[in-house]
Amino acid sequence: MTTKAILLTKSDDQFAARVAELSDEELRAATPGADVTVAVDYSTVNYKDALALANKGPVVRRWPMVAGIDAAGSVLESADPRFAPGDRVVLNGWGVGEQHWGGLAQRARFKSDWLVKLPASLSTRQAMAIGTAGYTAMLCCLALREQGVEAVDGEVLVTGASGGVGSIAVSILAGWGYRVVASTGRTAEASFLSALGASAVIDRAELSSPGKPLQKERWAGVVDSVGSHTLANSCAQTRYGGVVTACGLAQGMDFPATVAPFILRGVRLIGIDSVMCPQPRRQDAWQRLAADLDRSKLDALTSEVGLAQAIEVAGALLAGKVRGRVVVNVNA
Ligand code: NDP
Repeated sequence: MTTKAILLTKSDDQFAARVAELSDEELRAATPGADVTVAVDYSTVNYKDALALANKGPVVRRWPMVAGIDAAGSVLESADPRFAPGDRVVLNGWGVGEQHWGGLAQRARFKSDWLVKLPASLSTRQAMAIGTAGYTAMLCCLALREQGVEAVDGEVLVTGASGGVGSIAVSILAGWGYRVVASTGRTAEASFLSALGASAVIDRAELSSPGKPLQKERWAGVVDSVGSHTLANSCAQTRYGGVVTACGLAQGMDFPATVAPFILRGVRLIGIDSVMCPQPRRQDAWQRLAADLDRSKLDALTSEVGLAQAIEVAGALLAGKVRGRVVVNVNA
């Protein structure tokens, strides 16, 4: 039996991304320590996948690599009694698609400790419509709530709002009753963002250039997937005692800010990591996603492609041309 997968290769600095047919022996030999084999239904293209598929940025740390930091499907075989054939599972992160063979494949082998059992009400397609982007959005939203930001406290800003993390964060926060202001470079997407629940849409140019250390106080909370000046300005505009969650770097990895918002307004900056996030926290996030995320909004922000097309999607995503989330049907 063979498995179709997106294989990334590099030799003599020559990079290639292609759909390859892998034998069982190859899959097993390349996944030492994996104790669960999964029949993958869907994967997705996250920002990090796009970097790997387009050979931009140092995502892949072992060659050849099967791409895909996410997967959702059913267990075929498990050496761990916690998982039985037929169990529906979701995998996010843990270095999969970076140093362990990934989820853009019809079959994948993972360590059981990495897997989350999919909540009964979510299909494998919905799980990948959420993907690492949506699960990270939930980690940000949970952090805002745990840090005490309540709907009555005022507006919450979501940056990179038309992207994967941003669009799902808008949906979650609006569903929880927050007044969400969506920042986007695609103001033509204002009606899309309003349909997800944004109460206002601002042009990201308002946040993306160098700004003053302290600005007019506006945000009770922020979900930032953009970094750089956008994150610095978001902190500078956050109200006294407000909370900023930082999870991304779509504008840049730099953080050209001052300490003023933190020491003069008691603003809290909370870092969010999805990759090595401990199991109880990720299970909690997935349960909350299953319970709280509006499925009609999720459908509205999701598009679908087949395995080979994932490679083309990468370029479009990095060019900021993908709206919301893309699921990959690995069997199409
Ligand atoms: P997307 O590409 O789907 O969305 C990113 C969005 O950022 C774009 O849609 C765009 O939104 C905005 N953007 C892009 N370029 C710029 C720019 N130069 N200046 C300002 N805004 C820009 O990616 P994801 O939502 O999947 O991921 C977003 C970020 O979060 C990435 O950096 C990713 O690496 C990070 N991430 C981090 C995780 C973690 O564990 N910490 C997990 C998941 C993602 P618009 O068009 O609306 O302006």
